[in-house]
Amino acid sequence: MDFKNKTAFITGGGSGIGESAAIALAARGAYVVVGDLNFENASQVANEILSQGGKAIALEIDVSDANSVDSAFKKAEDWYGDTTNLLLNSAGILGIHAFIDYPVDLFNKVMTVNVTGTFLCSQRASQSMVKAEFGRIVNVASVSAERAGIGRTAYGTSKAAMVGLTKQLTMELGPYGITANAIAPGPVLTPLTEASYTPETIEAYTSMIPAHRLGLLDDMTSTILFLLSDGAAYINGAYLPVDGGYLASGVSKTGKLT
Ligand code: NAD
Repeated sequence: MDFKNKTAFITGGGSGIGESAAIALAARGAYVVVGDLNFENASQVANEILSQGGKAIALEIDVSDANSVDSAFKKAEDWYGDTTNLLLNSAGILGIHAFIDYPVDLFNKVMTVNVTGTFLCSQRASQSMVKAEFGRIVNVASVSAERAGIGRTAYGTSKAAMVGLTKQLTMELGPYGITANAIAPGPVLTPLTEASYTPETIEAYTSMIPAHRLGLLDDMTSTILFLLSDGAAYINGAYLPVDGGYLASGVSKTGKLT
């Protein structure tokens, strides 16, 4: 896949799935904006891209704040010259807490970063995409959009909302050559999950996932790049699990096949 002459804005680009996609897009010729709340991490990723001969800048952005989003996109457009072609919404937070006394402030924060952040960045990016009559938006949802998890009251709800939001974008943006799709990663070891996974969590996932392994960053990156590519022009509003078969699998592991 070739992303020469494409401009790409990545939120959450300073770490994990966003970082991996940013590096891969730059390696294939894209002008990459590495946007993150953590500017230090974003700068490290941008510097790595530059050291490999790619084109990147780091920008501080708080996706949950409309002014911050607008200002980051203005800076990005000044840098690469007007139009954002590709947007990856990968910024996200978990907010693990028991449902019974889940703090409303934490609930609102998770919803604001994960859902409102995706809304704000998609809206801002699509304003220039509409003018260019081309655009690709990929939203990083989660298998948690469909499967409940202990402590994931806000996270799972926010990821289901991201899938709904992705579908809402299709009808108004589709006529302008813009696609919006969501991926649902299964478990991948990144700073987001490392803090909450115990060895037992990893063992349980490994036994439940038909592929018998956790997801790798490369699994996510190859899917994201495909959905951002020209070849995915006719895929719009899709919700694509990238989970080794986790969502498809049932509970029965017994029984003879012959
Ligand atoms: P990560 O923590 O490595 O990266 C997330 C990045 O988002 C961080 O760099 C963080 O600084 C940034 N961020 C957080 N709040 C922000 C804000 N308000 N504004 C801008 N940036 C902000 O996590 P990751 O695993 O790479 O997760 C990326 C996305 O993938 C998230 O949306 C997450 O929910 C989703 N996801 C991850 C997994 C997994 O197993 N790792 C599974 C399913 C979905």
